[in-house]
Amino acid sequence: MHFIAQGLIHPELINPETGEVVEIKVGAQGELVCTSLDRDCIPLLRFRTRDHVIVTQTECECGRTSFGIRIIGRTDDMLIVRGVNVYPAAVRDVIASFTPRTNGVIEIQLTRAPPAGWEPPIHIKAEVSAATYSLESLKQAIEAQLREKLIFRGELELVPEGALPRYEYKAKLVRKHSEA
Ligand SMILES: [Zn+2]
Repeated sequence: MHFIAQGLIHPELINPETGEVVEIKVGAQGELVCTSLDRDCIPLLRFRTRDHVIVTQTECECGRTSFGIRIIGRTDDMLIVRGVNVYPAAVRDVIASFTPRTNGVIEIQLTRAPPAGWEPPIHIKAEVSAATYSLESLKQAIEAQLREKLIFRGELELVPEGALPRYEYKAKLVRKHSEA
């Protein structure tokens, strides 16, 4: 996405844990914070969007001079596994990349209170399609991808299609210890 609100919104990136400002340059990551510049009525002042973004570009062949971002997760959802930030949406994306053997429906099970509940391996349930055979090799392949792409250790439990709850609006990806 291009940021196209120069003069209307002042964007900042911050480290969501410390609140420290992060310089906007290619590859920078942080939570997007917005301040409205021309509103008279209830202007947002350093509004924390809770969107965790990565800056993909600071110039573009289309001629826009603003930076580009990709949203990689929500600060609210973020788990910290041995110091590594893990976004449930990123876990889902890795598992969904095994479609059609998986269908992208997952639930992360935090069955113990943090920080113990966030100790690896993180228990993840993922639905598999009915036609999938060799579940053990699929499980191992997904666990290897999670380790390689997201740098944390997950323990995958493959469950039949339809076993996990469905949500009408936005899927809830984490089941917390208090809901177990
Ligand atoms: Zn462009």
